[in-house]
Amino acid sequence: MRRERADCGGRMDEGEAIVNEQSRNFGSLADGEQKTLYFTLSPEAELAVLARMLYREGYNDHNWGHISYLQDDGTILLNPWEVPWDEMRASDVLRIDDQGHLLSGRWTVTPAIALHLAAHRLRKDAKVAIHHHSRWGTVWGALGELPDVYHQNGAQLGRDIALYNEYESDVTHAEAAERNVLAMGDRKAAILANHGVFVVAGSIKEAHTMCVSLEERARVAWHVKALGHDKGLPMQDKAVDSLVASIRAGRSGNRFYHAMIRREVLADASVLT
Ligand SMILES: [Zn+2]
Repeated sequence: MRRERADCGGRMDEGEAIVNEQSRNFGSLADGEQKTLYFTLSPEAELAVLARMLYREGYNDHNWGHISYLQDDGTILLNPWEVPWDEMRASDVLRIDDQGHLLSGRWTVTPAIALHLAAHRLRKDAKVAIHHHSRWGTVWGALGELPDVYHQNGAQLGRDIALYNEYESDVTHAEAAERNVLAMGDRKAAILANHGVFVVAGSIKEAHTMCVSLEERARVAWHVKALGHDKGLPMQDKAVDSLVASIRAGRSGNRFYHAMIRREVLADASVLT
């Protein structure tokens, strides 16, 4: 931490003061210099920070997408319809019930909530569900194809992702949403034909990793495809599986996730408020 602060000069000092102030308000200081995050996030702040992190990663279409986050009491936190992901603050986050009815919050629940509710209802591993029209993922939706895996960043969500055409039915209907979720099987991500992407994860941290990996896979595969149909060296299945096993065992730790959280909080600490 000290080295990073020195490299970034005065701007980081200013950010450090903000974060220290935020840590007093929103959580306890972690002890020890080896810690990569020295404040804690409320569930609402986790969602708001995730929205901002993913905005930087290409989940930045004007139509804003949806993040739902199932809580232990069965309620669901949701980003509001009116607030773009790069403006999101913890106080903007809505709480809804498992039917999509608003329980608390000052904004509107998206009408396209059915897919998220179905994911939380049907998949035990779907603590977090994300839909957006990410920059590179949407290109593959337009192609109606799945991107191959060419590098380790794109490999982290595993070899197998789903491709389905949700526009064959009305996605606001619970029945159609359930069909789409069931079609994903146990895959972490889906390319939605002519639309965008859908990701499910067991935590906000995993959601971040999966979404970044999907967009990186889509970006690199698009560039390889652009070089010509005979170009590219897809990663071997064994190498992909080994990487995924390592990530699921937690060997990559929190370095990347915490660094991306720090980036958002240092850039604009109001995300926590
Ligand atoms: Zn959409």
